[in-house]
Amino acid sequence: KESNARENNVAKIRVVVRKRPLNKKELSRKEEDIVTVSDNALTVHEPKLKVDLTAYVEKHEFCFDAVLDERVTNDEVYRVTVEPIIPTIFQRTKATCFAYGQTGSGKTFTMQPLPLRAAEDLVRLLHQPVYRNQRFKLWLSYFEIYGGKLFDLLGERKKLCMREDGRQQVCIVGLQEFEVSDVQIVKEYIEKGNAARSTGSTGANEESSRSHAILQLAIKKHIEVKESFRRNNDGNESRGKVIGKISFIDLAGSERGADTTDNDRQTRIEGAEINKSLLALKECIRALDNDQIHIPFRGSKLTEVLRDSFVGNSKTVMISCISPNVGSCEHTLNTLRYADRVK
Ligand code: ADP
Ligand code: MG
Repeated sequence: KESNARENNVAKIRVVVRKRPLNKKELSRKEEDIVTVSDNALTVHEPKLKVDLTAYVEKHEFCFDAVLDERVTNDEVYRVTVEPIIPTIFQRTKATCFAYGQTGSGKTFTMQPLPLRAAEDLVRLLHQPVYRNQRFKLWLSYFEIYGGKLFDLLGERKKLCMREDGRQQVCIVGLQEFEVSDVQIVKEYIEKGNAARSTGSTGANEESSRSHAILQLAIKKHIEVKESFRRNNDGNESRGKVIGKISFIDLAGSERGADTTDNDRQTRIEGAEINKSLLALKECIRALDNDQIHIPFRGSKLTEVLRDSFVGNSKTVMISCISPNVGSCEHTLNTLRYADRVK
């Protein structure tokens, strides 16, 4: 009863902004911090020039469910964003947690520790008396979407296809899933998957900023071997029935969506794909927020993959990461406007 009450208290969609501190490079350049935070509001102080070249500052104010300033630790981020959702996973919730923002704004820094903490809490709940006899198990998978294609980060980067099973369940054919019973193993899988993320000639952060990384933790009810054989046609549902799940999504750098006029053809194609997926994501979250029957998830691979998390019991947390330096002003405003549209 108590956990039910708690579920109802967790908003369906929450938008949280996290500001990172100025980094060494920005400090050495004596760049100004143009973002001020007070409670759940923030102000961006944009330096501008009038036609006669006199300088002035334009203020942009925003309000969100929570705004986390540069002193906030990853532990606190977890407590504010993911922790309240965890008990609802056992009540058939499909949850998603996104990190959105330009490259270098702290998406990966923010996202990395979250699944580990979540797994810790999920494993602890699994062993509680209420669930102990339910044969619930925790499963982990990790893949990325790069140029509109899916790659298994825990399966030699094998290219994967997606299928729908007619019951609005998404199935990624061949995606490796691993049962995880303790947090140390979860950590090893995450590290293995991170090492497999797109890295090209231009360096790791550069390439990974063009892909969406999706780590899923699912609570499944174990089913007997005979039955699981029969269900093998369902692909990754074979090991048990999904009770609830949470997806952690480290999105491609938001500025990459603007790479559509780049000289390099491949970069242009990837940019167009990223742009499409971030727009589709925004539209899906807005539709979800308005309780629309029709969710436009077909707009991109990203939203198609997340289809089952946009219907039924769903919870969405968007963590918008921003850089505080004056040089990032335009990207910061773009990120905040995007966040403003989904809240
Ligand atoms: P992104 O994934 O958005 O490209 P990263 O997470 O890689 O950005 O962050 C860029 C750099 O800034 C990294 O070196 C990271 O360690 C650092 N960083 C990001 N957020 C914070 C923070 N809140 N506190 C301290 N360092 C941070
Ligand atoms: Mg990153």
